[in-house]
Formats: sequence, structure tokens, C-alpha cells
Amino acid sequence: MSQRFYSTKSPGDFVDVKEAVLRSLPADNGLYMPEKIEPLGDDFWNGWRDLSLSQLGFRIARQVFRESIPADQLEMIVHEAINFPAPLVTVKEKEYVLELYHGPTLAFKDFGARFMARLMRWLTRDDDGLLTVLVATSGDTGGAVASAFHKVPGTRVIILYPKGKVSGLQEKQLTTLGDNITALEIEGTFDDCQRLVKSAFLKREMSERMNLTSANSINISRLVPQSFYYFDAARNLPEGAKPTFVIPSGNFGNLTAGLFAEEMGLPVEQFVAATNRNDVVPVYLKEGEYRPRSSVATISNAMDVGAPSNFARMESIFGSEWERMRSRIAGFAYDDEMTRDTIRRVNAETGYTLEPHGAVGWMAAEAWRKDHPEAHTVVLETAHPSKFLDVMEEELGKSAIEIPERLACLADREKVAIQLGTDESAFQDWLEGLE
Ligand SMILES: *Cc1c(COP(=O)(O)O)cnc(C)c1O
Repeated sequence: MSQRFYSTKSPGDFVDVKEAVLRSLPADNGLYMPEKIEPLGDDFWNGWRDLSLSQLGFRIARQVFRESIPADQLEMIVHEAINFPAPLVTVKEKEYVLELYHGPTLAFKDFGARFMARLMRWLTRDDDGLLTVLVATSGDTGGAVASAFHKVPGTRVIILYPKGKVSGLQEKQLTTLGDNITALEIEGTFDDCQRLVKSAFLKREMSERMNLTSANSINISRLVPQSFYYFDAARNLPEGAKPTFVIPSGNFGNLTAGLFAEEMGLPVEQFVAATNRNDVVPVYLKEGEYRPRSSVATISNAMDVGAPSNFARMESIFGSEWERMRSRIAGFAYDDEMTRDTIRRVNAETGYTLEPHGAVGWMAAEAWRKDHPEAHTVVLETAHPSKFLDVMEEELGKSAIEIPERLACLADREKVAIQLGTDESAFQDWLEGLE
């Protein structure tokens, strides 16, 4: 049987995997969800501890996509995408960090982006013309998507980023690859970039003629590979220990992937959502009212989200029942000063270096442990500390952070970007002028 996907706004209508992945956003503005995720059977649980991460990933992806993608193709896609580890580090007894930043761009978004790129390539293998991927970025997403699609045949990527608003090395990650990756430096804000991308999709005729697709974080194919490491972490805990996963969250894609893992039968003690001052979900969990609002800027900026897009998926999983959601997910929020304190304190006490997003998670884990001292807490660390060098050096001093070679070497590469304003028709004209 193939998997079918419904929109959270019209649960009775289904599309196939190609439509869900390439269209990304349903016409009704909902989010795509798999019709059904079945628990994994004994044939999985009998041998799951001995599989490699990519074999484990294949079995999990197969459970979600079923026969929508031939097994040998899916296995290859997972194998090529997940070619780096996700180490579980014991920081203190029963207190773990799951390092998700060992991919090519040092961000956990490599998991989703690398899988999506290869899946899109396979889904369009018989189509004429290039697949054109548009992505607006305020930082990490663009770098992960650019790296994931770089030199993937049959694809080209257009990245829009706001001039002067991404860090120097982040900009280099977007602008130095060349080949099928083109960077547009927009004289405006991140919101302008997003508006421009949306405007191109709304031009139905052009969008279809040019095979436009989107690589933003709501794409269902980015969530599936994020379930893999929940299984991987769980099997690396001491025998019999059930994990409490603590997830630094912005759009809540990572947390939703954890819920998928649980639907597949992974034993999870508890989910803990950790946010910065953008605390719409922790407030909802506490009070039962969902009040999205404008985001505020923080030092854990990948989580500066005021209206988390995956909240609709979480509601769908819990049947919109607040009591059910809050029994499975605890929520905590912290400000920048506490985050900075935690980076210093944990480094001094344990020698372990947390970056701002991980530090927010660490505080939530500590808060949870106060009432649940027996918990085995696994904090997801979503980026390498060198990606937030300014903050890290302010707290831990110069030269405390080593910049990995694959990031450091970008500093000397030449930036290549096309400058554009925020005018929608000028952007569309530019797009149409491409080959
Ligand atoms: C994207 C991102 C997050 C937030 O992940 P969501 O799935 O949107 O909740 C957290 N930390 C870092 C470093 C990120 O890049």
C-alpha cells in the first residue's frame, strides 16, 4: 500500500507523495500529514539495536512512506542523505546531549534538507526540465538547503536572503557554492524574501511552467528523517532507560518528528518543549489558549518564531485535545540572560559547551528533573557552537570555540550574489529570464 497525505485543513482529501513533497503547502494553507503511521512490528524491534543509523533510517522512512517509494530507491536516498553520525554524549549521570550538528553545514537542518533533496530528485526523475527550488532564509535553512542540493542533477536552487541580516559565515554558506545554486541578496527583510517567494508560487502559470517548488521547513519530507535520531538516541541509553526528549523549538518541526517516532512505537517517557521568549506553545500548554504573535529577536535566533507552523500538525496528532497534548509535552521558556548564564555555568561545571539553542534546552531539562529526578533527559543540540561565535566568545572568551574546517575554509571564498530589490514583478521577471 502507498502512503497518502491529507491537509490538516481538509482531513478527508488525499494526495500522493509526489504532490505532498513537491507542492509543500496545500492550496488550503494547511499542512500535509501522512494518513496513517503504523507502529513498527517485531521484525523491526528484534534487530533495531544492531542497525547502522542509515539502515535504521531506512526502516523508519519505509514505515512512513510505505510503498510510495520503491524500497531499494528509498534505501539509497536515506543512505546518501544520512552520511554523518548523531552522537549521544553523557554530560552527567542520566543527563545527555544528542549532537545533531555533525552534518556538512553544522546544523540539524542537514538531516531534513539532504533527505528532501534526494527524494525530490527521485520524484521528478521522469519530468522534463529542471526542478527549480525557491527558498527564503534568515540563516541556517538556506545553507543546509544549498549544500543538500549542490550538484544534484536536474535541480537548481534560488536562495533569497536579507542583505546584512545573516552572519558572515552564514552568508558564505549561501553564496560560495556556485554550480546549480544561486544566491539573491535582497535589499530588505526576511519577511520581504518570504513574500517574494510566495508571489512566484501564486503565479500559477509560471510556477507550473518553471517547475517551482519550495524547500521551506513545512515540507513533510523534511520531518521524516528527523524521526531517525530519536530512535538512535533511545537505543544508546543504558538498558531499560526510557528517554525524556528535550527539544529546543521554533517552528516545532523537530518536536513533531519526535511525535512521529512515538506513533511508530518508540517508547518515550516524556517530551519537553523548550523555547526562548517566543513562548506561544509553552503558554498554550499551561493555559490552553493558543495566541500566535509577532516574534521577538533573541540570541537563539533560529527559534524566533511567533506563529509556529507545525502547531497545526501537533493539533492534528492530538485531535485538538489540549489535555492530551499537555500530558505528553511539557513546556518551558527562558530569556537571553538565563541562556548566557547557562552557557557559562555548564561549561564551568562540566566542561561541555552548549550553544544558545542547546542551552535553552538544558535549562528545560533541569526544570523537568527537579520534579522527575529519575528521568533520563536527552537534550537535542541543534547547531555547532561556532555558528554563534559572537555570543560564545562573549561568554567563554576568545579562542574558546574552535571553528570546524568545513566552516572556517569558507571565510576565504569569494561571495557571489545577485542584488535585487523587494519588488515582486522585478523578481518574477528575473526568474523568467533564467534558462
Ligand atoms: C531550525 C532550528 C531550531 C528550531 O527547530 P524547529 O524544528 O523549527 O522547532 C532550533 N535550533 C536551530 C539551531 C535551528 O536551526
